[in-house]
Amino acid sequence: MLFSSLLVLAASPLIHAASVPNAAHDHDHVERYQLPKRWYQPTGHRVENLFKRGPDDGVDRPRVGSPEWAAQFPADVPDYTQLPKEWTDALAAADAAGKIPNIPHASAPGGQSNPVYPPGVNPSSPEICSATYKCVIPEDEDLWNAPTGVYGSSFDDGPYPSSPRLIEFLQSNDVTTTHFMIGKHILINPTVFLQAFNAGHDIAVHTYNHLYMTTLTNEQIVGQLGWTMQIIHESTGGRVPRYWRPPYGDSDQRVRAIAKEVFGLDTVIWNRDTEDWGLISGATTAEAVHTSLTTWITANPKLGPKTPGLVILEHEIDDRQVDAFIASFPLIAQNGWTFESLAQIYPDRGGPYQNAASSTSTDVVRQSITEGSADDGDDDTSSSTSSSPSTQSNTGSTSTQTTSAGSSSATTSAGASAGNSGMIAQPAFAWSLALGLVGLASGLFL
Ligand SMILES: [Zn+2]
Repeated sequence: MLFSSLLVLAASPLIHAASVPNAAHDHDHVERYQLPKRWYQPTGHRVENLFKRGPDDGVDRPRVGSPEWAAQFPADVPDYTQLPKEWTDALAAADAAGKIPNIPHASAPGGQSNPVYPPGVNPSSPEICSATYKCVIPEDEDLWNAPTGVYGSSFDDGPYPSSPRLIEFLQSNDVTTTHFMIGKHILINPTVFLQAFNAGHDIAVHTYNHLYMTTLTNEQIVGQLGWTMQIIHESTGGRVPRYWRPPYGDSDQRVRAIAKEVFGLDTVIWNRDTEDWGLISGATTAEAVHTSLTTWITANPKLGPKTPGLVILEHEIDDRQVDAFIASFPLIAQNGWTFESLAQIYPDRGGPYQNAASSTSTDVVRQSITEGSADDGDDDTSSSTSSSPSTQSNTGSTSTQTTSAGSSSATTSAGASAGNSGMIAQPAFAWSLALGLVGLASGLFL
């Protein structure tokens, strides 16, 4: 019921350069755009009922950044008792099918400690397999590593006022990245969000409020993921992200199952951590971050080939992290790495989004999304600027393919690389302090 209303109100404007909201004008009037005839999911798609989208649903969408747009989303932590029925139904169905492990929840002791499980529960056991404790199950499809020779680029926690500088730097170097975005930050910084999206960057999920996910109930996990997907969906012409990264890298078998079974999300961690978030609190220095990046990028070739490729945890919280990345960027090409947006390093997974640009699109190869649907055959070229270049050559005929290069890579090396890379989950206190300081400085963090 709620969701039906939400759908009527829901808004996914056509995104094009002219649609970037002008803050000075948004409050005066709302320009409305009709739903683009693209980026939809046909009957039977995993998230069909969660993020409704058809080739001609005729729903007008408020402009991104307008008050009508903002009113659709939680102002802060979602009310978990008022989640859209479609989401809780999907959770109940997955649970009834035995897809959601019934394991103990972790608790956050506070301070600079990681979440802990009840006494007697082993976080590294196959039943729990907490990523915070560096547990990797080879057959899982969690993405820890990039292919050989690839620098899989991503930035967490945006959008922030510092993001445009990063975006413009990447544009000037003709590359894109993947932004793991916080839903609440999209709500606060819609213009920056659109700048990243319109630059052709990939948008992925980093939850709505950046909480330790293993400490949450199943319904809370659904709310954190669902609302972030919803605000991205309603702000990108209907795209449904494929990837999410848990805050602090904190996931376990229950959390990853909910992400996958309810929302179709693939979990992404990392194999190198700059700890650049500590630049804000003083826990680390620019020199230390640069030394780490230089070490990883210029690794002695005598130690072996560029295997696995790099998935480095980096942030866009403020200029200090952006500066650290910019300082190291020339080294990437100089040392023979291929720079790619993280969401595009494994084309067999189907690209950064789960749904397709049109019913005849070949963007999605894994879940048969393009089969059995009516052909609209009418792309609205004004609606999008960011079709995934790396997925354009994929073919719909391979839609049953399930083998993931990511999983095979993780099988061989994720654990080892995570273990020797200083992949330490970020303490909540330090991270919160860092964001709080930035928030105080920018006046944006609530
Ligand atoms: Zn984060």
